[in-house]
Amino acid sequence: MAKRVAAKSAKVNGQTAIERAQARATAAGLPIIGRGWRVSDGALAWAVPSQSEPGKRHMVVLVGDTLLCGCKGSANGRVCIHQGVVYNELAAEARAWQAAQRTQTAIQAAAKPSPAITPRSDADRASAPLARDNRPFSIWR
Ligand SMILES: [Zn+2]
Repeated sequence: MAKRVAAKSAKVNGQTAIERAQARATAAGLPIIGRGWRVSDGALAWAVPSQSEPGKRHMVVLVGDTLLCGCKGSANGRVCIHQGVVYNELAAEARAWQAAQRTQTAIQAAAKPSPAITPRSDADRASAPLARDNRPFSIWR
């Protein structure tokens, strides 16, 4: 019987392969030790340390909308822990970007003049006491 390769979106115990890789990455606490891009095609790339071989690192590259890793686990069609580390990083960046968008939307909403403080007509302004009288005054009496 041929070895069955589960699709990355297929769920096992309610989790996709990517979610399981993210959970393994979080549990292992592997850091991203380098960021950049691949010289040959400009693809975004991240360096993640190997878990099994100290001192070695794996390069995870974003090609289209897919993360690819050069490790043995990834070569077998699995979503490896290195991809999980980068998925976690990208998810955190997406959350930060969404929070920044919400903040910007809130700032823009706050910057819009409220109807309550919008100046009314020129006649209203002309009848305001300080607009028609420029005598000095004191707030103390
Ligand atoms: Zn890998």
